Amino acid sequence: MNKEDMDKLVSWMKESRKTVILTGAGMSTESGIPDFRSEEGLWKKVNPMMVARPETIEENYDLFHSFYKKRIENLKSKQPHKGYDVIAKWEKDQLVDTVVTQNVDDFHRLSGNQKVLCLHGSIRTHRCHDCKREAEEEAFLEKKPCKICGGRLRPNVVLFGESLSGESLTNATVAIKEADLVMVIGTSLQVYPVNQLPFLTSGRKVYINREVHMGRDFDLCIEGDAQKILLKLEEQI
Ligand code: NAD
Ligand code: ZN
Repeated sequence: MNKEDMDKLVSWMKESRKTVILTGAGMSTESGIPDFRSEEGLWKKVNPMMVARPETIEENYDLFHSFYKKRIENLKSKQPHKGYDVIAKWEKDQLVDTVVTQNVDDFHRLSGNQKVLCLHGSIRTHRCHDCKREAEEEAFLEKKPCKICGGRLRPNVVLFGESLSGESLTNATVAIKEADLVMVIGTSLQVYPVNQLPFLTSGRKVYINREVHMGRDFDLCIEGDAQKILLKLEEQI
């Protein structure tokens, strides 16, 4: 994290009329929620493509259920870290317009951000996989069937192979197209279509991540931990 890059980003943030922040699992690792692809990522132990897909609900519900139950229970003792508070404050101070997130933990909303687009849904609400009616978390955790149709319950997340909610994707696309500055934080940018989003802007694009691989088409890349970098930026802005 060099001073020159930080100064540059601070001045871009001040100049920008519309800033959009796009976050991924790396935004929450400092809150104790494992991401999917880095070294200690949750998915080094379990293959996500095998579990987080609709076919697993139909073919191996026990595996699907235990994977999500573990994630939901792990989330209960976790809190958004101070980097989240910084982003919420920036929205109040009109330094940030919209937050677009791939995370399902709802931490941006819990931290006070009002304009949040959760592209992959939320792990905190549930529905029936068959009739789509709302269900209680407790019923899911206890592996109960749907009260209406007897179907299998699931969290309201977008699984691999399922399409994103059209409305949130459209809103994210519009916000990013209109943005002067897009700050991408804590995502490996491997999941389609979210990995296309930053490149829709004609404004500046900044990538903040623990590991920065070369060849990315960004105006600025800052390597490091999200919380630390956000706190540093807040100190200087
Ligand atoms: P990913 O696991 O593919 O990538 C995370 C990236 O963040 C990695 O490149 C890693 O180096 C970086 N990173 C890890 N800790 C960081 C930190 N403290 N500061 C900065 N960077 C850090 O995650 P993704 O790109 O978000 O995509 C995977 C999918 O995972 C998404 O669809 C999302 O729904 C889901 N997911 C969500 C959560 C959550 O809600 N918290 C957790 C795990 C996975
Ligand atoms: Zn049902």
